[in-house]
Amino acid sequence: MQKYEKLEKIGEGTYGTVFKAKNRETQEIVALKRVRLDDDDEGVPSSALREICLLKELKHKNIVRLHDILHSEKKLTLVFEYCDQDLKKYFDSCNGEIDPDNVKSFMYQLLRGLAFCHSHNVLHRDLKPQNLLINKNGELKLADFGLARAFGIPVKCYSAEVVTLWYRPPDVLFGAKLYSTSIDMWSAGCIFAELANAGRPLFPGNDVDDQLKRIFKLLGTPTDDTWVGMTELPEYKPYPMYHVNPTWQQVVPKLNSKGRDLLQVSLLICNPGQRLSAEEGMQHGYFSDLNPAVKQG
Ligand code: AMP
Repeated sequence: MQKYEKLEKIGEGTYGTVFKAKNRETQEIVALKRVRLDDDDEGVPSSALREICLLKELKHKNIVRLHDILHSEKKLTLVFEYCDQDLKKYFDSCNGEIDPDNVKSFMYQLLRGLAFCHSHNVLHRDLKPQNLLINKNGELKLADFGLARAFGIPVKCYSAEVVTLWYRPPDVLFGAKLYSTSIDMWSAGCIFAELANAGRPLFPGNDVDDQLKRIFKLLGTPTDDTWVGMTELPEYKPYPMYHVNPTWQQVVPKLNSKGRDLLQVSLLICNPGQRLSAEEGMQHGYFSDLNPAVKQG
């Protein structure tokens, strides 16, 4: 820890407190995340350490770089690349208006970061605007990748705040335990809609039941025909048969028809097996007029 000078507290995350700090040797600004474990007295589980060490190799422009891992007997501090702000704070600062070109650029970068991690068999499992970080030059980077696997899928934040369900797919809400890359694709869809609506969350549910109702009211309640295996999920229970909301277009009025297609036909699909992959999403026609500078990155 001598290597870093703590500057200020930036935030409270799912896994612990985040500080802005400076590397005393290089003067580089970093973000320090002190990870709190459920049972701090037990020290850091070796399984968690193994997972975290693998994440150091996950190097991509749309992933927040993990520079270093500081591990003492009981404490674990992760040293990350510093980013200017997160998407939630960006929403707060944009006064209900985001340029459609920026929506497209952020969404493309989100998919590119996901495609990279998924190709390395790393899932996020808890994507939300708070862990999408943005730099002054419009670069978007995914934070907290792989931490759910290392420390367990979060139920409570370290500050005892309940983890948001807003970005969880119906399969997980029904208790599915076999997570795949499709979990992140649903979250990406929810975030896409929120981007298009300049920060208004798509499904702000209060609890699991309310969350599922909100989803089915918009997308229609799935059946055993449209989603084989749904009724066998551990926490499945039947819901009223809602039909697809015909006013869907009004849900994301600022998104053009190609964007709506990517969202509705490709990402927000209740059946996890039918959701597009991140790699496929990047090829979607919505991105055909993407700023080439973003595409080349
Ligand atoms: P997290 O644990 O990632 O949810 O972090 C909590 C908050 O700390 C986030 O919402 C960010 O505002 C901030 N934060 C996390 N990581 C970084 C980073 N690498 N650079 C700057 N701020 C960060």
